[in-house]
Amino acid sequence: MSEQRYTDQQLQQALTYIEIFDKAGEIDCGGCGYKTCREFAAAMLDGIARPTMCVELSKKIIEKLKKRDRELRESLFLQQELLDSIAVPIFHEDRSGRLTGCNRAFEEFVGKKLSAIKGKGIDQSIEDKDFDKINVQINQSLIRSGGRQIVETRFVRPGVVEQVVELHKAPLTDRAGEITGFVCAIFDITERVRRSEELLLARETAELSVSLLQKMPSGFVIVDEKLKIREANRAFAILMGEEIVELFDAHGLRGADLKSLFPSHQLFVTFIQSGEETYSRDVEWSGRKVKLALYAIERGKTAGAILLDLAAPDVKKEEVRQRAEKVIRENLETVQKIANLLGENASRTENALSSVIKLFSEDEK
Ligand code: SF4
Repeated sequence: MSEQRYTDQQLQQALTYIEIFDKAGEIDCGGCGYKTCREFAAAMLDGIARPTMCVELSKKIIEKLKKRDRELRESLFLQQELLDSIAVPIFHEDRSGRLTGCNRAFEEFVGKKLSAIKGKGIDQSIEDKDFDKINVQINQSLIRSGGRQIVETRFVRPGVVEQVVELHKAPLTDRAGEITGFVCAIFDITERVRRSEELLLARETAELSVSLLQKMPSGFVIVDEKLKIREANRAFAILMGEEIVELFDAHGLRGADLKSLFPSHQLFVTFIQSGEETYSRDVEWSGRKVKLALYAIERGKTAGAILLDLAAPDVKKEEVRQRAEKVIRENLETVQKIANLLGENASRTENALSSVIKLFSEDEK
């Protein structure tokens, strides 16, 4: 018996090559052509048998491979499930720009199933004539510099309203760190860009409104429920007296207390507390007669007022007065609601501004 030429320790060590680690593991099935596992171990030590000849070891390896395969499939399935649970379209491509996979959101975004586009160029998925070029440029930049790229672009696709998108791209690497492909998430920012453009337009319009109100010959003031002034023009300061004009010219009236400026301030308090939309009456003080028109900007919180000096020549014309009041009221609302302004309101305000500009040019003739 050849195994007798080897010590027990040498044979046990040889058995570990075929994953037999104890006596119970020596099943002596004979599948290798040797009667016992120890005979096989001695043959391996003699150099005439190889571990792969042990059928039990082969079975174990096959089982392990099957298990690994199952785990890998489950892992891939889980990864795909995770990708599919993300509402943002995501795709990945190989180094040459061929689609290797995507999530459900991407399939919905391009209106095609993965099976129809896998392995094809990205232009077969996203049918925007410029995207392929942009995508190639981003990939080349990622190959050169690595990292991550965020690029804003527009998709003009057949039958789809133009979209503004943000592409977030990063390289995919193998274990050696070599770039094997790219992954890309597409964020649709159309609505965000639209809102931001509208907000900018609204802000510019509102600033124009404030600037126009500042230049108006009639006084205007906006106060909060504590009668703190939020906005006022120089004409208002003139109506309040010389000292207030100096104050206005020095640093404006924002934050000043209306109570200390305007004798009939109680009318503001009563108006704000009433929750009414508008209120108008003539007020007199220090020999001055003024038409005070109050408007709720935020009911119960903020009020705007227009003060028309009834002695002023341009206010004597009723038509002029009414149009001026209307325009000022619309602008007061615009100023206060900047944050909520949308394009429609902005364009209405623009019309109002054109109207007031026309009005004053007519008066100047
Ligand atoms: S096939 Fe493997 S388990 Fe069976 S006797 Fe040979 S060495 Fe032992």
